[in-house]
Amino acid sequence: MSPADPMADRAVSPEAAPEDREEAREGVRPLSLDSFIGQGAVKQNLAIFVAAARQRGEAMDHTLFYGPPGLGKTTLAQIVSRELGVGFRATSGPVIAKAGDLAALLTNLQPRDVLFIDEIHRLSPAVEEILYPAMEDFQLDLIIGEGPAARSVRIDLPPFTLVGATTRAGLITTPLRERFGIPLHMSFYTEDELAEIVGRAAAILGMILTEDGAREVARRSRGTPRVANRLLRRVRDFAAVDGAESVDAAAADKALLRLDVDRRGLDAMDRRYMRCIAENYGGGPVGAETLAAALGNERDVLEEVVEPFLIQQGLVQRTPRGRVLTPPGWRYIGLEPSPDAAAQLDMLARAQADGEAGNEGGGREGEDG
Ligand code: ADP
Repeated sequence: MSPADPMADRAVSPEAAPEDREEAREGVRPLSLDSFIGQGAVKQNLAIFVAAARQRGEAMDHTLFYGPPGLGKTTLAQIVSRELGVGFRATSGPVIAKAGDLAALLTNLQPRDVLFIDEIHRLSPAVEEILYPAMEDFQLDLIIGEGPAARSVRIDLPPFTLVGATTRAGLITTPLRERFGIPLHMSFYTEDELAEIVGRAAAILGMILTEDGAREVARRSRGTPRVANRLLRRVRDFAAVDGAESVDAAAADKALLRLDVDRRGLDAMDRRYMRCIAENYGGGPVGAETLAAALGNERDVLEEVVEPFLIQQGLVQRTPRGRVLTPPGWRYIGLEPSPDAAAQLDMLARAQADGEAGNEGGGREGEDG
């Protein structure tokens, strides 16, 4: 993100910020499945696959984590390698520019190592092609040289585990998705889980946080541990300046309001987003591209960083025709749906009821608009 980006300094951004790097030093990042709080189903699955791989002395099956940023995908990938007792190499989709870059990574792996590729939906097609036989048969097919002198060579690779992470499961090509034996969906954390996470982090940071203080931070962390840990650190700073020895709900509330994080974890950007749909587009539907242009943001940023939480909270809906502000969304920004918008919402609700009746349980990650 560019420095001029209005989102760059959001206290509630789920994306990694430079200040989050302190974490490694402070030891807040959990290092084992046992100390990783939440994502029960994901953890249970991983525990079984790790144990099975260890027992057989084989590389674990390729694993894909998908879900919004800041939920612990990278953390779990590291934990998996630790629990398997193997090495960990990390890279990300946009960093691997050429097939040769990937080849260099793969040929340097030790048997059973974990190779973590973040933002795997952003791999170039040429690199992806190389990845298929590597994942499937642990073989690398490379073209060496150019023109008539070009020849292809095949290199055997050590068996390895590819762990991919993506915030946009819908953008992963089918052949790539099909090569992951273990797809795992990460969902937003509950308030209880986040309270436990900040309680644990506070203890590590040597800060005194009351139970209601932990709850206050948790409630405003948008279901996201990265946000929770960051808010906790900022609250700690405010408390230190105020000379407070412990942080309770009142102290947390005061600090978070000063950071412009409201009682539900929404900030100015969220309100601007919802107001834009209400005031400029009568509540929607409005396409993602149009909305991004109106807000002066990139579409990707809106889709990955702003919308998931608003949708999860039921304030905004993604429909095939674009984004729509829901009745709770209207109320949240202190407005009533216009008659037009009310009629739209009514129609939408009916279409949805019909859709659900004809398509039981057919949930899908929306990549529309
Ligand atoms: P992602 O890769 O999904 O964007 P990360 O794995 O980088 O997310 O996690 C973001 C931050 O949140 C990490 O620094 C980590 O310390 C913290 N975190 C994530 N999940 C948990 C958890 N379950 N318990 C405690 N801290 C967590």
